Amino acid sequence: MEQYPNNTLNKLRAVLDMSSRLLSATDESELLDAVAKSFCDELGYGLCVIFLREADDFLHVRHQRSATGSIDFKAPQGYRIPFSAYEKLAARAQRIGGVLWIDGRSAALNDPEISKYIVPTEPTFGSSNEWHAKSLLLAPLFSLNGAVIGMIAPDDPLDGSLPSPETSIIIDTFAHLTSVALELVRARTNAAAKIRILEAQRQQVARLFAASTTVKRERQLEAMLQNFVRSMAEAGNFNRVALYLLDPTSTKLVLRATHGLSADEQEFLQQDSLELSAFAPMMQPEMRISRSYLYDHTKFQVPDELIASLRIPASTSPWEPGNWHSKDSLTIPLLDEDENLLGIINVDEPTDGLFPEAYHVEALEFFADQCAIAVAQVLKYRQLEVMAETDSLTRIPNRSAFDLRLQAEIKYAKAQNLGIALLFIDLDHFKRVNDTFGHLEGDAVLKAVTKRLKASLRKVDLLARFGGEEFVLLLPDTPIVETMAIAEKLRAAIQRNPFSTSSYESVDITISVGVGALEKDEIKNIDSVDEIAKDLILRADHALYLAKHLGRNRVCTFDEAQGPHSLSK
Ligand code: GH3
Ligand code: MG
Ligand code: MG
Repeated sequence: MEQYPNNTLNKLRAVLDMSSRLLSATDESELLDAVAKSFCDELGYGLCVIFLREADDFLHVRHQRSATGSIDFKAPQGYRIPFSAYEKLAARAQRIGGVLWIDGRSAALNDPEISKYIVPTEPTFGSSNEWHAKSLLLAPLFSLNGAVIGMIAPDDPLDGSLPSPETSIIIDTFAHLTSVALELVRARTNAAAKIRILEAQRQQVARLFAASTTVKRERQLEAMLQNFVRSMAEAGNFNRVALYLLDPTSTKLVLRATHGLSADEQEFLQQDSLELSAFAPMMQPEMRISRSYLYDHTKFQVPDELIASLRIPASTSPWEPGNWHSKDSLTIPLLDEDENLLGIINVDEPTDGLFPEAYHVEALEFFADQCAIAVAQVLKYRQLEVMAETDSLTRIPNRSAFDLRLQAEIKYAKAQNLGIALLFIDLDHFKRVNDTFGHLEGDAVLKAVTKRLKASLRKVDLLARFGGEEFVLLLPDTPIVETMAIAEKLRAAIQRNPFSTSSYESVDITISVGVGALEKDEIKNIDSVDEIAKDLILRADHALYLAKHLGRNRVCTFDEAQGPHSLSK
């Protein structure tokens, strides 16, 4: 111990005393300030400058402190040292332990690649001593895996003397301590940021979850999806979000909600729905992160058609490797419980400009899952609605669906001053079919008859099962002459060919049709829509009754039923 001067021991003790303060620093600037202060106050330097190596691979001045305030590190505006210049300097420096020493008069400083980064510092107390204004004492900071993450540059020792081996060891130890503390504070800051993001996301997801369970109808879904994309942008830190849903009846993706897109871009994307296959280049297995697809344009060629069809904007800021580029994208699939694709969410432009990490992608997927639940729910509800309105045997609308449609058509006819007609269709002697072939065969024949009737109709015509072996047909916007022609066409179509059964025998089927119509004036004169509906059905029923009475397999009108054949007379 005696070989160390007393003040060296004191310095060492001071440095070790600092360790707990360094390790418990809450942020980077607090840490750097404590380090620089120790260099000035305990180790006796007039100035301490701390550089940190950033993602751009330059060493940036991140902190400086002077003992007296009388000197300062007068670096030019935008001063930063390329890491390559540091390496050059380190290679030519003299090493005392881990500390680098370059005398201000050394030839190493003649290298223009080094000299342009040297900022001379005049000594605090006169210039009578060995330390030159350009002398450099550098203590590199290392990450846990050995990479240089920065350096401490104490300058201008207040006693003017060159660093002794003992001082160098102390500085080296202090630098090690600083390195560990720096890594620690960074890890802590990172974790805190992640927790903050996750907490914000958790809250948003909880809100969305509460809202998504109440969504049942298409109309509510619209607002819900808009909410989703906004929340995803805000909590997920992306400027642009576009949500597409897969049309259940095709393979097309329809844009349903966006955030951060201009009105112009929205209109463009809404014009045409995209084929799902258009997204295939952005959803390759090798792009997968968790369940999503990260498209890095440096690794994959973005097809021009895709750029055109998605209106991928040109990059506005200078791009650097590792950063997000406008051609990059993250596509998150919307999957239901059975992993069926319901749609996709495309996010773009992370607010921090960086590629998202896996945990970030997973958080976004959590959002997507909530969204998928709401979408699946709406689809299911729609399915239930359709089921409630469909006859389970013939798969055509049932009576209650027909009643609703009839009301709407009557209102329309009233408003447009039109007449309206409807047809009652009853299978002739259908009981015999059941009696001969059994009810299951009877069912099959009913289905086949339905199919043949439908084949003769337009899309707008509404054929419904009224009950049993009776059908009702509504022909919107159709003049009575045409209505009669259609009725006759249906009758002929059913009679034309026999219906096959599962035995070798086929069965001849005929239908009787009753046409009930109301003229536009009659419709105008009756106020109640229900009354009109009742009247129409009654008329068609009377006409059908006449058709049966006259021997079946024929078309009759209500007027005929009122005429010479009138059954009531
Ligand atoms: P008509 O020419 O006078 O109409 O004679 P019909 O035998 O068709 O008339 P009726 O009203 O006496 O009998 C209707 C038959 O239709 C009786 C019933 O078993 C049968 N039917 C009704 N609904 C169904 C069904 O869903 N499946 C089967 N297989 N038969 C049905
Ligand atoms: Mg019948
Ligand atoms: Mg009947």
